[in-house]
Amino acid sequence: MHSTSRRNTLIACLLSSGVLCAQTGTADIGGPEGLDLFEELTESTLGSDLPTAVWDVNDSLTFIPGYDMYCHWNTDVLFDRLGAARFDHDTLRLQLGTHECDIMMPCEGKLTSPYGMRRGRMHYGVDLDLETGDPVMSAFSGMVRIAKYNKTFGNVVVVRHYNGLETVYAHLSKLMVAPGGLIEAGDTIGLGGNTGRSYGSHLHFEVRFLDQPIDPALVVDIENGSLRALNFDIHKGSFAAIAAAKAASRTTSTTRKYHVIRRGDTLYALSRRYGVKVSDLCRINGISERATLSIGQRLRYD
Ligand SMILES: [Zn+2]
Repeated sequence: MHSTSRRNTLIACLLSSGVLCAQTGTADIGGPEGLDLFEELTESTLGSDLPTAVWDVNDSLTFIPGYDMYCHWNTDVLFDRLGAARFDHDTLRLQLGTHECDIMMPCEGKLTSPYGMRRGRMHYGVDLDLETGDPVMSAFSGMVRIAKYNKTFGNVVVVRHYNGLETVYAHLSKLMVAPGGLIEAGDTIGLGGNTGRSYGSHLHFEVRFLDQPIDPALVVDIENGSLRALNFDIHKGSFAAIAAAKAASRTTSTTRKYHVIRRGDTLYALSRRYGVKVSDLCRINGISERATLSIGQRLRYD
């Protein structure tokens, strides 16, 4: 398979350079998947003539995008919550491209839910409409860091880009890349779906820097599929805004409101009463618009 051969080329490259090493490399480079990559290569292509390479941080600086900023390459844990603590710049200018079309929208669908507070909780990405099975593309070129199943994100891919940004593609029905794989902007990384905590097929797309979420709409004009600007400036304030939003979501997420169904209640009546669209009521409760409501059933409406 195309992506597999590219991945093997990369692994061979990492091995010959000493980035992957049985003693130190697996601990520093990643979790279980990092180990798995190593074992797969040694069994299938190297036999017993394993080079006794020594892992050196300089090798990672060369081969792993953004390694100088992250100082880790974890192929198991999605995000390190202390990531922003490593940010010690006043302002850091990230180059996004050399032309405003230097981005691929991950799918063709329209924006269905923006970044920000949503029903009292923080939504750390944007939702884009798609049908299960539609191809999902990487927005920029880079290296796949995560490709696995997660309870919340479902089948999820995280790609590390050369400027240090990471993009996240969640709820996929199928993963088509593996950690360590090099990809170009526009390469298909999986198929859209409805896995994890998702009500209906869509792509949940995030942009992160040092593990902290950034509103994708600040980076890309979602309607036109073009870059907002060729550079993106990150400063301490970018992270303060995230921290404030997180604090707000913690205090409000306990105030969910429920309606207990009584005789004669309909989704349409509840929609009018609480000012929530029927489609939203269905999504947050995980029910169909044609669902029969039973008396005593609790429906969340905030
Ligand atoms: Zn989402």
